[in-house]
Amino acid sequence: MTRRQAIEAGAATAAAVAASSALAQGAQPTAQGQPMPDGVTLPASPPPAPKPGSVGFAIIGLGDYALKQIMPRFAQSGRCHIAALVSGNPEKLARVGEAYGVPPEARYSYDDFAAIAANPAVEAVYIILPTGLHAEWAERAFAAGKHVMCEKPMALSAAECERMIAASERADRKLMIGYRCHFEPYNRAAMELTASKALGDLRLIRTEHSYRLGPATPATNWRIARAQTGGGPLEDYGIYGLQAALYLSGEMPERLSASAWRPEGDPRFAEVFAHVAVQMHFPSGTVAQVVTSYDSAGINMVEARGTTGSLRMHPATGYGGNTLVLETGNERRAMEPGDPEVQFAAMLDHLAAAIRDGTAIFTPGEMGLRDVRLMEAIYASAASGRSVALKPDGTMRG
Ligand code: NAD
Repeated sequence: MTRRQAIEAGAATAAAVAASSALAQGAQPTAQGQPMPDGVTLPASPPPAPKPGSVGFAIIGLGDYALKQIMPRFAQSGRCHIAALVSGNPEKLARVGEAYGVPPEARYSYDDFAAIAANPAVEAVYIILPTGLHAEWAERAFAAGKHVMCEKPMALSAAECERMIAASERADRKLMIGYRCHFEPYNRAAMELTASKALGDLRLIRTEHSYRLGPATPATNWRIARAQTGGGPLEDYGIYGLQAALYLSGEMPERLSASAWRPEGDPRFAEVFAHVAVQMHFPSGTVAQVVTSYDSAGINMVEARGTTGSLRMHPATGYGGNTLVLETGNERRAMEPGDPEVQFAAMLDHLAAAIRDGTAIFTPGEMGLRDVRLMEAIYASAASGRSVALKPDGTMRG
């Protein structure tokens, strides 16, 4: 090991200890109105009246993902519509409400949210807030008698996830995590390829999800504020690679080892890691490497390699433009299983089907809890410098 590597390894351990304890202890953040994000295009005219039986959603948090991805995609849903909005910024709330045809009486502030219980037009709530607010607002939504779709990651700790699941059970309402890739044709095709052994027996999985964060501080960007985000790139972006390793292998790891690193003196990484690298060992013998970074040139990639073939997705888990190349023997095939953009409406309609028809949810709260448990094990391994043995539910042994 060179001196530089030794220094970096020391920094990694110190930072891992800090972040893993912060995952459990971060100061409780509160919901606060934010300005309209840059580059939002609002609909030119409000949507048509919902179809009979359509599930009315309240959107909580009018930020980038809500306004640019989720809300426009309700137009492609056959079974859901936007019935209410919740925001702490009155001007943004009015502007977005007008554009989406949400009447003033169905526009709520964070302070008067509890009144939503008396609005029968709202059956489900979609939580698109910073992660540190997911648990509190899911519990509030269940207390108001609504079903919940919650963005990823589910919450900052397994304890918070367990509270959310308990609240869903008490209220007898559904809880689904917005893991859109389960509804995306390229990822579904990749799942079918590995499950049907089109690659032979799966041996190696490699995923990378990285981008370079611009200048920011924890005060200006919640994604690098520990109390809102946890350890950083793993929860935000690496989670797609973690998920892919699980849905392509169809297994839970029995052991993992990880390292996490942050540079000293960079305000972006005052509270979170710059890189996290994980190696997971599955009972079948498959090994997965999951890498994520907030400080390297962008990549969104998933590869799986079996005894007789491989698949590569690059980009793998995007909103659109995903690719899937299958190689077996001398044959190389670029697959086109469908339009990636259907993932958003398919995900919304999946919750509507669970509510209306009682069908099972592919991405329930238990899956979000499982992933948060694995992230806790990842930080524990990074902090100790040792591999961690896991139970089938993702909790650490011993
Ligand atoms: P964002 O910062 O653009 O928006 C967050 C919104 O939450 C703000 O606009 C504001 O309306 C509200 N908010 C309330 N209290 C806040 C507070 N104290 N600080 C900051 N915002 C506050 O973030 P985003 O990119 O829209 O992410 C929101 C959620 O969606 C996160 O859970 C994120 O992980 C998830 N997300 C998911 C995907 C996906 O592909 N599934 C993509 C992006 C984001």
